[in-house]
Amino acid sequence: MESATPVIVAIDGPSGTGKSSTSKAVAAQLGLSYLDTGAQYRAITWWMVNNGIDIDDPSAIAAAAGKPEIVSGTDPQAPTIFVDGVDVAGPIRTQEVTSKVSAVSAVPEVRARITELQRSLAASAEHGIVVEGRDIGTTVLPDADLKIFLTASPEARAARRSGELKGADVHSTREALIKRDAADSSRKTSPLAKADDAVEVDTTDLTLAQVIECVVTLVEEKRAGK
Ligand code: C5P
Repeated sequence: MESATPVIVAIDGPSGTGKSSTSKAVAAQLGLSYLDTGAQYRAITWWMVNNGIDIDDPSAIAAAAGKPEIVSGTDPQAPTIFVDGVDVAGPIRTQEVTSKVSAVSAVPEVRARITELQRSLAASAEHGIVVEGRDIGTTVLPDADLKIFLTASPEARAARRSGELKGADVHSTREALIKRDAADSSRKTSPLAKADDAVEVDTTDLTLAQVIECVVTLVEEKRAGK
């Protein structure tokens, strides 16, 4: 890999578009760090649930937003997520956290807190970083070198998610996905949105390998043009 100035890549899009698998593979292939910002929102949600914070009360969430210490490991081969020293990689993927994360992540104090963590991790990545999420290109890193917005049909996204959840019912997975995307897209503070200068990639009919290749090529083109 040529050693150039650190490259910052923002990958946004709704769930089930292949964001995580693509981002991790692209980062590993190019020797970059990797940050899963969804894991950070899930981690703070896990903490709120575990500490008895009322998820239906945005002011209670706002008041507690600064309390948990959230630490993300950014090695794409082995990303980690700790809350107050506890490894929460497993617990943040439960149905309970998934169903509550949109409400917690909509609270401006939560977003401010997590956005600050994200910016500091991106700034300290020696070779550059791939950051995946919903608002990375629009809000967190508006000066990213490359912005990608991944999309896919609801059917393809639900099929992928139920595959990941080992046989979960596709219909209910689809309904839950659509509900979460609607909440994430309609919130007031930094909603899920495509940045004007993002490259949109529809992954519906692409294999994961094809999506990875497409993004790696885009990063390499950017680097060559720098
Ligand atoms: O990507 P993942 O499905 O793990 O994200 C979980 C949730 O975290 C999303 O549904 C959204 O509510 C929130 N999120 C966000 N902003 C990001 C990343 C995730 O609000 N940049």
